[in-house]
Amino acid sequence: DEVKQVENSVHETKIDRKPAVFVDVIRNEEIQAARLKLPILAEEQQIMEIINDNSVIILAGETGSGKTTQVPQFLYEAGYALKKQIAVTEPRRVAAISMSKRVAEEMNLSTKEISYLIRFEGNATDETKIKFMTDGVLLKELQSDFLLRKYSVVILDEAHERSVYTDILIGLLSRIVPLREKRGDPMKLIIMSATLRLEDFTSNKRLFKITPPVIKVDARQFPVTIHFNKRTSEDYLKEAFNKAVKINTTLPEGGILIFVTGQREVKSLVRKLRKAFPLKHKSKILEKEKEVKDREAKGEDDVADSDVEEGMRHALRNKKKKKLKVIPRINLDDYSLPGDTETASDVEDDLDSDREDSDVEVSMVTNAQPLWTLPLYSLLPSHKQQKVFQPPPAGCRMCIVSTNVAETSLTIPNVKYVVDTGKTKVKLYDKVTGVTSYVVHWTSKASSDQRAGRAGRTGPGHCYRLYSSAVFNDTFREFSPPEIQQKPVDDLYLQMKCMNIDKVVNFPFPTAPDLLQLKTAESRLETLGALTAGTVTALGKAISKFPVLPRYGKMLALSHQQDLLPYTVCMVAALSVQEVLLEVPILNTGPEELKAVRQKWAATRRQWAGLCNSLLLGDNMVLLRAVGAAEYANSQGKLEKFCDENGLRMKAIIEIRKLRMQLTNEIKKNLPEAEVTVDPKMPPPNDLQAKLLRQILLSGMGDQIAKKIAPEEVKEGEDRVKFKYAYHANNMEEPVFLHQGSVLRKTLPEYVVYQEIYETNKMYMRGVTAIEPEWLATYVPSLCNLGEPLDEPPPRFDEPSGKLFCTVTGTFGSQGWSLPSIEV
Ligand code: ADP
Ligand code: MG
Repeated sequence: DEVKQVENSVHETKIDRKPAVFVDVIRNEEIQAARLKLPILAEEQQIMEIINDNSVIILAGETGSGKTTQVPQFLYEAGYALKKQIAVTEPRRVAAISMSKRVAEEMNLSTKEISYLIRFEGNATDETKIKFMTDGVLLKELQSDFLLRKYSVVILDEAHERSVYTDILIGLLSRIVPLREKRGDPMKLIIMSATLRLEDFTSNKRLFKITPPVIKVDARQFPVTIHFNKRTSEDYLKEAFNKAVKINTTLPEGGILIFVTGQREVKSLVRKLRKAFPLKHKSKILEKEKEVKDREAKGEDDVADSDVEEGMRHALRNKKKKKLKVIPRINLDDYSLPGDTETASDVEDDLDSDREDSDVEVSMVTNAQPLWTLPLYSLLPSHKQQKVFQPPPAGCRMCIVSTNVAETSLTIPNVKYVVDTGKTKVKLYDKVTGVTSYVVHWTSKASSDQRAGRAGRTGPGHCYRLYSSAVFNDTFREFSPPEIQQKPVDDLYLQMKCMNIDKVVNFPFPTAPDLLQLKTAESRLETLGALTAGTVTALGKAISKFPVLPRYGKMLALSHQQDLLPYTVCMVAALSVQEVLLEVPILNTGPEELKAVRQKWAATRRQWAGLCNSLLLGDNMVLLRAVGAAEYANSQGKLEKFCDENGLRMKAIIEIRKLRMQLTNEIKKNLPEAEVTVDPKMPPPNDLQAKLLRQILLSGMGDQIAKKIAPEEVKEGEDRVKFKYAYHANNMEEPVFLHQGSVLRKTLPEYVVYQEIYETNKMYMRGVTAIEPEWLATYVPSLCNLGEPLDEPPPRFDEPSGKLFCTVTGTFGSQGWSLPSIEV
């Protein structure tokens, strides 16, 4: 006992040791009581000592232990915000807003002092002491002040999410911290994370010279009983609904938290649950009134998804009335595009998919407790997000339907039952185009354990997994791989260059992408004109704003300049989908019938191809018109019939529509002023537009050029007929061919640009468009060898433009195809 007493007194004296500076915060009693329940509060002293003694610290703790809300307060009280600011980054916008509000409230300070800054929105001021922001915003700030001199501490929160931006910030800050130390103006870096895969940060020798200390905070966690389903049902939304009904009708008091994958699923499930368990009249009316007031106060309108789409259509109709701006030539000098590149990694597309509500018929469940059902997702207006933290009205059970926002970023009080669909929405990148699409996929074991943990925060809880234990054991991955390893490297390389990161190949990534691929990316970017001598060009900056591989980004940037974005978006989307135009009908038919059908389809495609410039746009013209016509048919409710009759794969058309929406949506995020809308029924490009599109395709894919093999080039003994549709690709030995369905077989242009080569019995080109050889020097200068200007004929002077013209000769590519004389 004596020993114990001594130990206690030592402990006490340690606690009594006051820090050198102490900034008073006056909190109200209720908040103070809630804080004292958080496990992290008992460790304040120890945490602050380690922070004072080290420049880089890793703080790991279970979700809900108080990291995000408390650590910034500890730092504030210890004087870290007296001269400079405290920065806290979040990968999600919701967390940045919500946490800044909470901390301001806890500290009794105004939002002037405890502020947030996300892209296009924020309340940070010069008086700000603690600034919550998205990781992308801090990266942006680095570009104007590399040493981040405003800040005394940078906290990178939710580092376990492994968002690309947080990963890059860790690498950059690993260098900035020692630099600040050298200048006698030290800064602290605190990496905060759930207790997952900390080795990536600690055992990476390239990252930190001295392994940073790891502080672990335990959360008070009550036992959670896991219940697996016997069977795994396809319709997880229906399962989730049934489970919620069952919990509310048969199980004791306690909040329910349901995990689904996206905004639309959240909304639909909330709608059904509200219908099944309506609130009593009075509270419902009060709620409505409050909502109307809130809205009026905010001056915002809650528009349903379908209204947004209708709105977009309307905008487009109006836009059509405006005269189309047509510049007959692409301007290669002016790439200035307003807007910046930041986006938070909220994996939530609000225009998501065509998922239908699985069961529309929901009737009211009688004799049950009313259910206070609330939605939670990234793009939910913040005043609505805050509702999940308030207690439900008397007599109601709380039920929150959330995306994985509630997994680690936000901790919701009083959840006793977790319903886990096991699904999450993941970003997939198309390997050819880099177009992102979202697919619903099984989540990882680590994240479903996180989800289950949410049920044991205030008492013992239950987690209902709507899948079998066999699926969990055999199909779920341990962790989700870091985003940086899933992103196409060309895109990543360019993004990093745009952030003024000089040697991307030597960058200290927590988890490095493939180095050889990074090097190849660099040379490809040089060819595209996005980089010169390792520096980003104005074109490169414009390209980086588009969420696709740089070559397609270049096409989109040029299209943006020419008001042709919807067409290029459609072409890029269509390229990410396999087999849009069918060769043979899906249903079996006799040989006679088959022949007739194919002839009919070929005739339609020739008609779609049109004449002149549109014919030369070739396969891409056919695709544009096929998609436009199918969407028109769809608006008449005749999509299936139209697809059958014209040899289109209906699933492909639907997929293309989804990708066009997603791509447009992401472009809007980066270029909010761009007037890009998706009118599924797109009118075909006119002749001039078709010509511009050919130039645009060339400018993005100038390394994928093929030249017709002339009859006299065919070697002795070879069958000339076989070479009728044969081309030489500029970077390949073997001949490549126009495929059977290509409308360009009729015209056999001398030069073509193709989007991809695929191999069946021969090498075929996909997405072929004719180009003019005299364009090569302008649009693919990096692959041209231009000779000296010829003396004859004499230089010509163009009066209106003031440009001097003279004629040169030259060759293209490694095979030295000679170019026609061109004017420069
Ligand atoms: P961590 O970052 O470790 O996951 P947090 O600091 O986010 O933990 O949460 C600590 C506690 O603060 C949780 O119990 C959570 O419920 C509570 N909390 C966070 N935001 C709010 C809010 N806006 N209103 C009420 N309680 C909140
Ligand atoms: Mg947190």
